[in-house]
Amino acid sequence: STAIVWFRRDLRLADHAALTAAVKDYDRIVPLYIDAPEEEGEWSPGAAARWWLHHSLGALDGALGRFHGRLHIGRGASLEVLRDVVAATGASAVYWSRLYEPEALRRDAAIERALTADGVDVAVHRGSLWREPWEVMTRQDQPYKVFTPFWRSLRAQLDDAAPLPVPPSLRCAMVADGLSVDELSLLPGVDWTGGFSEWTPGEAGAADMLEVFGDDAVSAYTEARDLPARHGTSRLSPHLHWGEITPRQVAAGLRAQVAGSRRHVDIEPYLRQLGWREFGHHLLYHFPKTPTENFNPRFDGFHWKDCDAAILRRWQQGRTGIPIVDAGMRELWATGWMHNRVRMLVASLLTKNLRQHWSHGARWFWDTLVDADLANNSLGWQWVAGSGADEAPYFRIFNPVTQSEKFDPDGAYIRRWVPELADVPASRIHAPWEDPAILRRTGYPVPLVDLKSSREDALAAYRRTRA
Ligand code: FAD
Repeated sequence: STAIVWFRRDLRLADHAALTAAVKDYDRIVPLYIDAPEEEGEWSPGAAARWWLHHSLGALDGALGRFHGRLHIGRGASLEVLRDVVAATGASAVYWSRLYEPEALRRDAAIERALTADGVDVAVHRGSLWREPWEVMTRQDQPYKVFTPFWRSLRAQLDDAAPLPVPPSLRCAMVADGLSVDELSLLPGVDWTGGFSEWTPGEAGAADMLEVFGDDAVSAYTEARDLPARHGTSRLSPHLHWGEITPRQVAAGLRAQVAGSRRHVDIEPYLRQLGWREFGHHLLYHFPKTPTENFNPRFDGFHWKDCDAAILRRWQQGRTGIPIVDAGMRELWATGWMHNRVRMLVASLLTKNLRQHWSHGARWFWDTLVDADLANNSLGWQWVAGSGADEAPYFRIFNPVTQSEKFDPDGAYIRRWVPELADVPASRIHAPWEDPAILRRTGYPVPLVDLKSSREDALAAYRRTRA
């Protein structure tokens, strides 16, 4: 008997409930990936994410090779491809891991109905979350809108059960006429991804990344996680997004690693951060319009400035004249990733000082982040803009200069990403415009906006909205 395992954003073999169940129930499985970006509507993967996907599919194919299998790759409407593979292999069931984006939920429900009507069994399993979004609810059975009680409730539900192993007796059925990963043309036409080489997409790359983090950085996470010049965070976000590793595996891996340490290491602050990812998915599931609409409707009346293409371009290119912001935007372009503290600063400048709608920033991140994730990105942008759930209050506007002095005190991060400022002394590097000679000498631009007056304008606009 044969079952199809339809891989989507669960590109791993370990801790894979759908795969484990399929292997248990059937003699052979057909590992399948379907390229159908249009089914994700306006949120099909952006350019950086497609780069990641290309390599991750290659890694999964390689991992299946150890079981004498191959990843079968199809293209076109998912339902049609699934039906073709059912017909070609005689498969009597399709297994998959759940996704939580609104378009994917709609598509998957329709496919489940159609396959069931065809007489094919469908088994849908937990995806890459600790808990399903409907499993963590308030006492009144309502979704949470505030993080801390959400986390308290989720944390109480977490146990230390070991993640599922790679199924030891994985037997793959072969299917003719699949596509190669190259044929999907996921890589960009004009290659700007030279700086992505520090990433190793795939399950093995995720495990390595976790080990490096667990070896050292997790013990200093609380102090170092806000310092962008340090490798103080796990950098697991793209691996988590693509389901190459699960939160359960991350927690179990860290627990095992710190158990061997001579000093006590508290991994709770790190687990709590993973809780934000669960919160983002919880919100997206229960409030599916958050990628495009203000979570807080008061912001529907907020006076954003008209979209200014020139301003947006300078922000995107890291030429705002505010070093910490430019460093972040250039890190994003070069590596497909940006440090969380700096994500907050670049988003704050765009939505508050420049008063551009948060959706313009969210779109740019969508196309340039290797970890672009509809739940986390929507949460992040709305949080900074002040329009989100459990948001940063609008009137608390980040000052990028004081933030830069605090979190990049010697300017190491700025020097790395804004090399024209490399030899500017630390006392000047956070606000080089205060010494015009530096701008003349380095060619670094004057700030796009006056931080003080734009802050006051933003606050005034906010007060008008409330009135
Ligand atoms: P770590 O500090 O090691 O955290 C571990 C994991 O916890 C992360 O990999 C991530 O999965 C999760 N996590 C941590 N912080 C957050 C958070 N604030 N919200 C949700 N999950 C979190 N994260 C994405 O994965 N995809 C996005 O598209 C995304 N867009 C963002 C946009 C903005 C404007 C902001 C402010 C934040 C955004 N984030 C996004 C959240 C956060 O910046 C990244 O998850 C984090 O920087 C990833 O680095 P890390 O894996 O080293 O994090």
